[in-house]
Amino acid sequence: MTSAVRKDDPLLSGAGPWMYRFMEVLYPYCRSITGEGTRETLRRVASHVPIEIHEVPSGTQAFDWTVPQEWNIRDAYIKNRAGERVVDFKKSNLHVLNYSTPFRGMVPLETLREHLYTLPDKPDWIPYRTSYYKENWGFCASPRKADSLRDKEYEICIDADLKDGNLTYGEYLVQGSTDQEVLLSCHICHPSLCNDNLSGIALTAWIARHLREMKLRYSYRFLFLPGTIGAIVWLSRNENIVANIRHGLVVACVGDPGNPTYKKSRRGNAEIDRAVLLALQTRGSDYSVREFTPYGYDERQYCSPGFDLPIGSLTRTPHGGYPEYHTSADNLDLVRPENLADSLSIYLDVINILESNSTYVSLCQKCEPQLGKRGLYGALGGHPDAGKVELALLWVLNMSDGKNSLLDIGERSGLTFRCLREAADLLVENGLLTKLPSGGAG
Ligand SMILES: [Zn+2]
Repeated sequence: MTSAVRKDDPLLSGAGPWMYRFMEVLYPYCRSITGEGTRETLRRVASHVPIEIHEVPSGTQAFDWTVPQEWNIRDAYIKNRAGERVVDFKKSNLHVLNYSTPFRGMVPLETLREHLYTLPDKPDWIPYRTSYYKENWGFCASPRKADSLRDKEYEICIDADLKDGNLTYGEYLVQGSTDQEVLLSCHICHPSLCNDNLSGIALTAWIARHLREMKLRYSYRFLFLPGTIGAIVWLSRNENIVANIRHGLVVACVGDPGNPTYKKSRRGNAEIDRAVLLALQTRGSDYSVREFTPYGYDERQYCSPGFDLPIGSLTRTPHGGYPEYHTSADNLDLVRPENLADSLSIYLDVINILESNSTYVSLCQKCEPQLGKRGLYGALGGHPDAGKVELALLWVLNMSDGKNSLLDIGERSGLTFRCLREAADLLVENGLLTKLPSGGAG
């Protein structure tokens, strides 16, 4: 059983800069729900984590959905009369409506405006827009750029393909000592957007990279999927695996400066919900909690009634909650290494709770055992949290009647899980506590 996930652990050391650098590498690719940008992103992930890359042909049925044609883009621009590229895909891949159909020709300004998307109150930001399931061509630009267009007509080029191909996703399983699984899932389908998509990929990759070196109770399944259609395709191909999933988190928006936010699973009181809440409550800094809603990321699919998996979503500022969301300002300046590292530390705390949550029985049920004579009371002088550990000893002894897990004791005592775990270990070492076989937890 691991006890390795700690704040001073090598698991966290260097993590922030590593995740940030990985985002810098991934930033330029023009990702979408299918296509080479997404495939190349997965290849980059595969250079750090041995993910399996799956290809699912266009036309494949997945519940009520069909895998769409594959979209690939090479170039796109709007040229003025002087032959200058006034809007240029090569400067930002957000300039093209994601999944735009190919198009070439001279177009009057009025027609171009019908295909030009802007955010009127953000003069310098390019919006991110998609048209996956409705054929359309288009560009996105800042209002300042759009307002500067004065020629009567413009030369349009969208050098793209939309044809039968594949949807691509990545999957990796770290085998633990049981087949019971923890699922971590992130979306990989946004082009040059950092907090929304790249931060989740970087954090998930870091965890995958490190958990495989550890001794684990649970098996950990990591999914790198295009949003919505990717999760639906994965679920439709893996119904046999779903029954093994005991806990899970959708990883997104983990690099912005906002406070951590947890969105509960549809069940609302699953062990994952309680574990994340305990981790957040005992950190001593601000956070928010939201009830499940059927809007957001792929928890929508995992928590659809036919699956109803115990999967929540742990973010910083959630989906749509920050002004830079789905614009060119969700860039490498918005996301900081220290925020990524802070988010990672919460994920690692949660994993530690899931891994270590157990139910114990005190071997001294009638009154407290005499801790002083065993050197357990007033004897932890050198320990930085001696007072807390002593209190934790009393909590663990009192609550360990075979019915309460360490997570239950955490919720009741307000003590950190690590502290309770440490107390439980000490009591076991001193013959005062015994662990029930696993399955008794949570
Ligand atoms: Zn998004």
